[in-house]
Parts: sequence; structure tokens; C-alpha cells
Amino acid sequence: MVCPFCGKEMEKGILSGDGRSAVRWKAGDKKAGFSDTIADQGRVTAAKHTIAAFTIEADYCSECHKMIFDTEVTS
Ligand SMILES: [Zn+2]
Repeated sequence: MVCPFCGKEMEKGILSGDGRSAVRWKAGDKKAGFSDTIADQGRVTAAKHTIAAFTIEADYCSECHKMIFDTEVTS
């Protein structure tokens, strides 16, 4: 995906979190693992800790520090 803010190519990755540690984003199709926690890599500073584990496919722009993901909101 091209970033709608700066026009650069965004990186595909996975947002993940388990409620016990920081929310992380990792490039590619695998969620962040234990080694990322040890290295403190990929931490999403905007995210607050939550109770349930989750993963979301999200594109990241390292220029604008923005993420985009597709979703619907059920009603
Ligand atoms: Zn951008």
C-alpha cells in the first residue's frame, strides 16, 4: 500500500499483543515473538496494554509514523 500522507510504499506487517507486554508490530506475515520482546523491537508507542491477545494485519509508514488496517465495525 502507498502511504496516503507522503506517497511512499508502506511496509506490510502484523500488530500483536497479549495483554501482558507492549503492543508490537513486525514486518512480514508473522507476529512479533519473544526475541522481539527481549530486544524491545517493534513496540507500538500509541497502544495501551489491554487484557486480551490480538493480531491485526497493518501497514506501517516509517516516514509518517502511521499505520493503516482494514476493518469493519459490527453493529
Ligand atoms: Zn507516509
